Amino acid sequence: MLVGLSVMVPQLSSIEVEAICKIRLGPELVNDKLIWTKSKLGTFTTQSSYRCFIDQQPTSSSASSIQPDFPWKRFWAVKCISPRIHIFIWRLLSNALPLRTKTGHYIQGFDKICVLCGDEEEDLDHLFLKCRVVREFWFTSPIGTRVDHFSSIHDLISNWINHNDNAYRLGACLLWHFWKGRNRKIFDNIEMQFGNIFSAAMCSLSDYLPGVIKINVDAAYKEYKFAAAAIARDHNGLYLGCITKIGVAISVEEAELLAYSLGLTFAQRFTANSCWIEGDSLIVTNWINDSSLDIPWRLIALVNEARILSSSTSVNCVSFVRRCCNMVADSLASYAFKFSIDDCWNAVFPPACIEEAIACEHSSSSLLV
Ligand SMILES: [Zn+2]
Repeated sequence: MLVGLSVMVPQLSSIEVEAICKIRLGPELVNDKLIWTKSKLGTFTTQSSYRCFIDQQPTSSSASSIQPDFPWKRFWAVKCISPRIHIFIWRLLSNALPLRTKTGHYIQGFDKICVLCGDEEEDLDHLFLKCRVVREFWFTSPIGTRVDHFSSIHDLISNWINHNDNAYRLGACLLWHFWKGRNRKIFDNIEMQFGNIFSAAMCSLSDYLPGVIKINVDAAYKEYKFAAAAIARDHNGLYLGCITKIGVAISVEEAELLAYSLGLTFAQRFTANSCWIEGDSLIVTNWINDSSLDIPWRLIALVNEARILSSSTSVNCVSFVRRCCNMVADSLASYAFKFSIDDCWNAVFPPACIEEAIACEHSSSSLLV
């Protein structure tokens, strides 16, 4: 070792040489080996490396140091929430979201102003608590609260958690979809619509709540002919039944509207439960949810009928979902269109034509949550 040290001395600082010389050698010479100094035994453990990061991280990015009183144990004990949303909230609490002030910190000249209000810089508390847009969002949301008296977003979230798990679940789903709305505004230039965010949040909430039934709807349309389909499943994705209907329609919007109506009518069979209707037509979802929108005169009667059905006790909300998340209803509608099938299935097992789509959805959701 001494020979090795004399060779390496020019490469080392005097402090390092001094530290090496202080190492006590045992009575017997043993071969040198690499050790992990952060654990007692000198072997690497993830626990010791985690402690190392926690001890060394700057206070600005440490959620625990920002909020030492945050109820982390209760936070991690919350069940029946999408893991994706729960992890998003953890990232938010850890100040790990790519907010505009953060990006601006690394890119000179980057516009840090909040895209929602255009008044102030977008930091964590501004975006989720203090922006005039988010204050209106919270007040009109299903939570229906004024947030002026909360000092930080951590304060608001810990208030939900200390209240009960349901308050946290709802708040977390609203935060997640508000963030997605903010991203759509930035990247796709799509204006944020509170009604759609509330509906999407309620559906995300329902996905993990026992007793809730989700009915996906879709339509296939070609040359004035259409097939509509609706499929019902519980919160575990267990198949409960499906229905198809064929007929004529003047446009694809009318066909989609008829599919939503089919799903809403199908929901009446599950009166003891709360049904959530999901379809991939944004325009039809908006027509049903927003009475202030102008409706094509040919479709006014159908939209009104759908609105009446959506206000029944068995229906909780009607919401939009991307087409890639609606493939089971899409497959059923295509099959019904191809073979002109007007039928209803209440059997324990789904019809063979959608088995593959159901299997695909299960595998992709298990990867994506
Ligand atoms: Zn703002």
